[in-house]
Amino acid sequence: MPLSIEDCAATYKVLILGDDTVGKSALLDSLVGRTFRETMYPTIGVDFVRKIFEVDGALVQLAIWDTAGQERFRSITKLQYKGVQGLILVYDVTNELTFETLKYWIHSIQDEIARPGGSYEPIPMILCGNKSDLIRDKKVSTAKGQKMADREMAFGFYETSAKTGENVFRAFHDLAFHITDICHPKLVSNLYTLRPLSSQTIVI
Ligand code: GDP
Ligand code: MG
Repeated sequence: MPLSIEDCAATYKVLILGDDTVGKSALLDSLVGRTFRETMYPTIGVDFVRKIFEVDGALVQLAIWDTAGQERFRSITKLQYKGVQGLILVYDVTNELTFETLKYWIHSIQDEIARPGGSYEPIPMILCGNKSDLIRDKKVSTAKGQKMADREMAFGFYETSAKTGENVFRAFHDLAFHITDICHPKLVSNLYTLRPLSSQTIVI
């Protein structure tokens, strides 16, 4: 029987961010089993996709919100950030500029999720260096990506390919795990003995 929302213990709102053309929409297509398209049309596309993950026997759903062109102006609205419980930051390993601009995205995230008084909710963020299949065109090394992830206290760093599917499920699944761990720790309480968290706690 297919998994349904009724079986889910929780639904979490997630935002996928990064410059245009890094492959955000393609990653979501890959996650939900849609065929990879060489040509994507930036302003056409779904607002969000839903995907159910198993986290230590419990089912949780990620509702992952995509951007439809406004990322070109880095003008993500407060409304889009409202209630966000997880973030995916994406750059293109073949395009150094999309790596350099990650700092703008991180600042924008920090500004948007700051509460009055300057405190922050811990929101798990993962970093994805996408288009890993384009090995010959790679401009941003794995070490550089990992260093950025460590510096920004990302919960995970993955080199992904929306084209081949490499690491796509793993990245989103790990994010589902980290969000569940923060929002509903009882669901993952007995997991610590099996799989200790590898990264630090993020406070952005
Ligand atoms: P977005 O603007 O971040 O949503 O980027 P899109 O998902 O629209 O992708 C932009 C372009 O990059 C499209 O031509 C995709 O086919 C291509 N693309 C996206 N992901 C990959 C990938 O992992 N590998 C390769 N080779 N191309 C990709
Ligand atoms: Mg897109």
